[in-house]
Amino acid sequence: MHSQTKPTMGTLYIIATPIGNLEDISIRALNTLKEVDIIAAEDTRHTKKLLNHFGIHTPLISYYREKEEQRSDEIINRLQEGQNIGLVSDAGTPAISDPGAVVVHRAHQNDIPVVPLPGASALTAAISSSGLSDSGFLFLGFLPAKKGQRRKALTALIDCEYPIVLYESPRRVINLLEDALEILGQRPAFWARELTKKFEDLKNDTLEGLLKTCQGKTIRGESVIIISPGEREEITGQTIEELIIWYRDNSEFSLKDVSKKLSSDLGVSRSQVYQLALTLWTSNT
Ligand code: SAM
Repeated sequence: MHSQTKPTMGTLYIIATPIGNLEDISIRALNTLKEVDIIAAEDTRHTKKLLNHFGIHTPLISYYREKEEQRSDEIINRLQEGQNIGLVSDAGTPAISDPGAVVVHRAHQNDIPVVPLPGASALTAAISSSGLSDSGFLFLGFLPAKKGQRRKALTALIDCEYPIVLYESPRRVINLLEDALEILGQRPAFWARELTKKFEDLKNDTLEGLLKTCQGKTIRGESVIIISPGEREEITGQTIEELIIWYRDNSEFSLKDVSKKLSSDLGVSRSQVYQLALTLWTSNT
C-alpha cells in the first residue's frame, strides 16, 4: 500500500516594515525576508524598492485589499504545500488598517503556524509619543471618508472614556479635526505627522489649537490624530423627561440615539422612551 506523506506546513510570518525611516526595520525582519520562499506584499512595486535597498531578492506575489479572499486561498495552498511566506504591507504592521487579517485568520483555521515579527507602526509610534495615554486607548484606524458617516462615528464617541487614536490622509485631516471639534468639543489632542521622516511634526494642543495651526495651509504627509476623553459633565435629571431634555440640550445625540441609550440605561421599552422624546424634542421645555 502506498502511503503519501503530507508535506510539512510552511509558516506565515507577519513582518512589520518601516513607516518612513528605513533604519526602523529589524534584523530579524531582514533575515526572514531573505529566507522565506515568497513574500506576499500589498503593493509589490513598493516592497520591491524596500527589498532592493537591502539587497534582498526573494520573489514577490501581491496581496491587496480588493483581492484579499482570492489571494488568501492561494497563500494558504502554498503554505499547505510547505512554503514559508512573509506577509508585508506598504508600511508598518500588516493587518493594522492594512490588508492581512483574512489570510491570518485562514491560517489559524487551517492550523498553519503564524509568527509575528513586530516592529514599526504609526499607532504605537504616535500613542507612545503623545503623552496622552499610560494605559488604555481606543484605536479605530480610519473613520469613514464620507462626511455624514464620519460625523455619525464621532457622535458615537462622545462618551468614550479613552483617548481615541485615528489614522487620516493629508487630504482629509483638516475635515476630521473640524468635525471632531464641532462634535466632541474642545479637548486636548495630539497630531503626529510624517512620523520617523525628515519633516516629522508632533503637536500637542487642543482640537481648536491644532486647527488654528493648519488654517490656510496644505497638509503634506500621513497623520495620526489622538483625541483625549472629554470632561465628564454631571448628567442632571431624575425623571426620564428630564434626562431626555438634558441630552437634547447638552449632547449631539439624535432623538433615536437618546431613546436607545435611555431605554438600555434605564431598562425601559425603547418605543416608550421614543414616544416621550418625540413630544419633548421640539418643545420649548
Ligand atoms: N499598517 C500601518 C501601521 O502599522 O501603522 C498603517 C497603514 S494605514 C493604510 C496608513 C495610515 O497610517 C496613514 O494614513 C496614517 O494615518 C498612518 N501612518 C502611516 N505612516 C505614517 C507616518 N509616517 N506618520 C504618520 N502617520 C502614518
